[in-house]
Amino acid sequence: MHFETLAVHAGGEPDAATGAIAPPIHMATTFRHGPAGERVAGFEYVREGNPTQERLEIALAALEQGAAALAFGSGMAAIAALLESLPAGATLLIPSDCYTGLRVLATEFLPRCSILVQRVDTTDLEAVEAAFAAGAAAIWLETPSNPLLQVTDIAAVVDSARRHDARVFCDNTFATPVLQQPLALGADVVMHSTTKYFGGHSDVMGGALVFARRDAGFEQVAHRRHVTGGVLAPFNAWLTLRGLRSLPARMHWHCANARSIAEFLERHPRIASVNYPGLVSHAGHAVAQRQMRDFGAMLSFRVAGGRAAALAVAGRLKLIHNATSLGGCETLIEHRASVEGPNPVSPQDLLRLSVGLEHRDDLIADISQALDG
Ligand code: PLP
Repeated sequence: MHFETLAVHAGGEPDAATGAIAPPIHMATTFRHGPAGERVAGFEYVREGNPTQERLEIALAALEQGAAALAFGSGMAAIAALLESLPAGATLLIPSDCYTGLRVLATEFLPRCSILVQRVDTTDLEAVEAAFAAGAAAIWLETPSNPLLQVTDIAAVVDSARRHDARVFCDNTFATPVLQQPLALGADVVMHSTTKYFGGHSDVMGGALVFARRDAGFEQVAHRRHVTGGVLAPFNAWLTLRGLRSLPARMHWHCANARSIAEFLERHPRIASVNYPGLVSHAGHAVAQRQMRDFGAMLSFRVAGGRAAALAVAGRLKLIHNATSLGGCETLIEHRASVEGPNPVSPQDLLRLSVGLEHRDDLIADISQALDG
């Protein structure tokens, strides 16, 4: 079955009781059971699972070619549940460029669980191999990365990890399974902030983990979610399910828009550099071409003239909003260094763009007037 068809139908069986084509939203927190706790229809209490969330998990597992999925209340809840399940004393490798939330979790919170964290340039395969040889138990990949759009060769990292009995986790938020399927390349677990492209409309928060195997690692994280309660609310599961039906169609338009904008920016004299894996000039272009079906709709660029010039450009935009997050219909721009908390790591002249679904000519006209000042 083609991916587009799967996205429309996965987890979408018509309701058995009514024949409704759109799935019902089950808001129940508890489900009837027998006198000795015997389950009647598979469910017990909402913190463990519910029918609407189960539909979403079936769909997510199908789209990522995984064996099982777990939905969470946010992307960060998903990341925390997975990483805090690592055994005490384990070393986790995280990318030198990654989402701020992961960086903060890894530096402030994981050490409290006696999980050691080491940063590594995941695009440098020799550095990755050396870190595995030194005993790292797992690696976190984010490709393309946030906000520098670095591309890591997933299959090559998996190859190295296998030789050292290490696990590979991959944040696939920027690419989505429409463009890239890390489990098919050998990764063990895929993570999504479904707040972004899956939801697709900037109106629902969620996160997910998709596991290559329904093994002890899966059971451990499912148990952790059940006990610590980072589960997704039924209404949010329903909205996310609704969003993912149109994910492939949206991604094709998103990507075409982003490519046009990246090419426009690369030619503009006030732009110092553009980070977009679809550009031939991008360091990870060849790897991206191999492991992605298209290059995504996230890009970042450095403005000639430093921080003040970058902020001035962001401030002159009229159609494009200054706002955090990504993956919605509307194009958003953000000066990452300003929102990264007390120790920003992004370059001060860097702006990140989440390219939306408007017409590309309108977007380019807005960026053009903002750059020309
Ligand atoms: N991963 C990436 C790449 C992100 O950009 C984000 C949020 O921006 C997250 C994870 C965290 O997801 P959430 O905001 O849903 O907790």
